[in-house]
Amino acid sequence: PVVTRFAPSPTGFLHIGGARTALFNWAFARKMGGKMLLRIEDTDRERSTEAAVAAILDGMSWLGLDWDGTPISQFVRADRHAEIALELLESGNAYKCYCTPQELTEMRDKARAEGRPPRYDGRWRDRDASEAPEGVKPVVRIKAPQSGDIVVKDRVQGDVVFKAENLDDFIILRSDGTPTYMHAVVVDDHDMGVTHIIRGDDHLTNAARQIVIYRAMGWDIPEMAHIPLIHGPDGAKLSKRHGAMGVETYRQMGYLPEALRNYLARLGWAHGDDEIFSTDQMVEWFSLEALNKGASRFDFVKLDNLNGHYIRSTDPARLYDVMVETASETGRNADYAGLVSNKDTVLAAIPELQPRAKTVLELIDLAQFIYAERPLPIEEKAAALLNEESVAHLAALTTAFSSLDGWSVESLDGTVRTYAETVGLKLGKVAQPLRAALTGRTISPGIFEVMVLIGREESLARLSDVVG
Ligand code: GLU
Repeated sequence: PVVTRFAPSPTGFLHIGGARTALFNWAFARKMGGKMLLRIEDTDRERSTEAAVAAILDGMSWLGLDWDGTPISQFVRADRHAEIALELLESGNAYKCYCTPQELTEMRDKARAEGRPPRYDGRWRDRDASEAPEGVKPVVRIKAPQSGDIVVKDRVQGDVVFKAENLDDFIILRSDGTPTYMHAVVVDDHDMGVTHIIRGDDHLTNAARQIVIYRAMGWDIPEMAHIPLIHGPDGAKLSKRHGAMGVETYRQMGYLPEALRNYLARLGWAHGDDEIFSTDQMVEWFSLEALNKGASRFDFVKLDNLNGHYIRSTDPARLYDVMVETASETGRNADYAGLVSNKDTVLAAIPELQPRAKTVLELIDLAQFIYAERPLPIEEKAAALLNEESVAHLAALTTAFSSLDGWSVESLDGTVRTYAETVGLKLGKVAQPLRAALTGRTISPGIFEVMVLIGREESLARLSDVVG
């Protein structure tokens, strides 16, 4: 059975690249009827925080990525890592190195001066502990092969060849007895029964080193799939401005989880020309072979379009809940209060707002006309539509509206049309200033729908604020 794992370091939020890695591990495990485990790589005690762990779990849950079993802490497994390091010592696959920090610095400087990559020269490979200088606590180093190739058989990259001479005898256990990251990852993946490692290709060189440990232990090497990182639209490393943010920032920017999930899936994986697909379809179609070999570029325009699609196809009741949550989470207190106390009106308005918004924040903006306090703040563009002439028309219309018996889209539409015809104006010439006066904007749902939504009394009051 397939076992994948997602192994984030809890030093910050679940960033967008990590989320995509989690998504691919999840999709592959679900597709194969296997498991996805979660390992928190918290050995860096200085930088790992509980808050970051919570943010990662939160981000995954929001994206709908569930994991199997309880998350495993790498830090608490330190004894097990040390145990394996000792086994490697006993089997002669590792050795104690008593180099002083000063010696290592000299070694590095010498290599640099000679134009060689700074690597450990293996000087304690065959020396005996009796030669150790006093007071130096040893580290444990793995005996890496000194010649030949180490080949990472990668499901995405193909065979990636590393020259053994470029990999030194790296440290697996520090002098304080704690494991290095390189070593801990291998022991954990083995103990967790991981069959497939799917992660960013920034770990490819690590893979070559990790293979050295697998071989020394005689363990099966998991299948590997190293995925190219996400780049910015300019092809450079993903920057904040271009999307290198935590998943919760996307939530606060008003993206729906299904839209982000769909977008991330497309960012590095393809199923023909399909751009929009459900999570079930993704799971059904997923394969490692369809992972892209080339770097993908983050594109907010595409994400926005996808999000707009999902906003249009989401049930209004759920959208309402998301709007309220988003307003609350982003400290939009007036919006929060307005949305909560005008629930029915907002719900009725949502179908009018859906086609006009690409994000939940835009939905909230569009809903503001419902609960805005009088006198309405009027945007500059809208204010420009309110001049002496148009205000005179609005005054005449206000009188006509006041004497209306019913207050429906039909009756309002009829009133305005008749008026426009009478004064010889196109409908828009009257309807646009009407929109400006009633919503403070130049963009809103149909203006007669707006008038029905906010009702007769509020409509007339807003008009009289403008007409005087
Ligand atoms: N903790 C590593 C990271 O966050 C992942 C290690 C791995 O997947 O092997 O980049």
